Amino acid sequence: MRALILGGTSGAHLLADAVAREGLQAIYSYAGRTRALAEQQLPTRVGGFGGASGLADYIRKEGITHVVDATHPFAAGMSRNAVEACAATGTPLMALERAPWPKASGDNWIEVPDVASAVAALPGQRARVFLAIGRQHIAAFGARPQHAYTLRFVDPPDEPLPFPDGDVIVARGPFAFAGELELMRSRGIEWIVARNSGGTGGRAKIDAARELGLPVIMIGRPALPDRPRAESLAEVMLWLGHRTCLGA
Ligand code: NAP
Repeated sequence: MRALILGGTSGAHLLADAVAREGLQAIYSYAGRTRALAEQQLPTRVGGFGGASGLADYIRKEGITHVVDATHPFAAGMSRNAVEACAATGTPLMALERAPWPKASGDNWIEVPDVASAVAALPGQRARVFLAIGRQHIAAFGARPQHAYTLRFVDPPDEPLPFPDGDVIVARGPFAFAGELELMRSRGIEWIVARNSGGTGGRAKIDAARELGLPVIMIGRPALPDRPRAESLAEVMLWLGHRTCLGA
């Protein structure tokens, strides 16, 4: 058994820890988007594979027997490539995919399918907006330059922001409810733009928005091809042939 874990999420790190602890053979793959890679114990590789065919070549060359797609639910390109490459090489694939956040009572969500619709859903008049969507997706908000944006990135931006009024916070999650409440209060946030990533690490901003009665423009997940999926580490470990109950 030699697994490839497509990572970049907190769930992927927990899986890598469990796999390393149990002595299973695996390689952890980072896209290499952040400068400081989060530490973990498995052997790693960094950078794209060169599309689905590049990933298929990698699987063959490295003798990969199992692929776990533990990428972010919005990392649709990598997930599609994994489906294609695993089909081409006959390699079993499992997605470790956290469930989306359900809308709770008191949530004021405007649900939209993509970033372009999120831009269109912002009010016309100037507002203070917490743009909690990651730096790769902010360019489209340049079409609404009247707003005061608060952004949070893992690394400081290396390019100018696409709008004149942007306040960047550099921090890596998970984030706690009290801190999110304080962030929104201290900056006078009126709107939040978020993606329905699911999981616990990003949930606090949604809970804080509900507490403050703020509208959240919630971007839904991209559509992906059908593939086997698990929501828990324990399920993935079982699938990898490890029979111990991890209680995860
Ligand atoms: P994406 O659009 O699906 O991926 C674009 C390309 O980046 C892929 O086609 C692949 O390049 C490369 N890539 C992505 N994930 C990779 C991985 N784990 N290992 C090796 N190559 C990878 O993905 P993205 O949205 O840019 O996300 C990039 C990474 O950041 C992912 O690992 C994801 O888990 C993590 N992340 C993303 C988000 C998000 O909001 N999208 C949030 C948190 C973490 P090739 O085609 O050349 O193989």
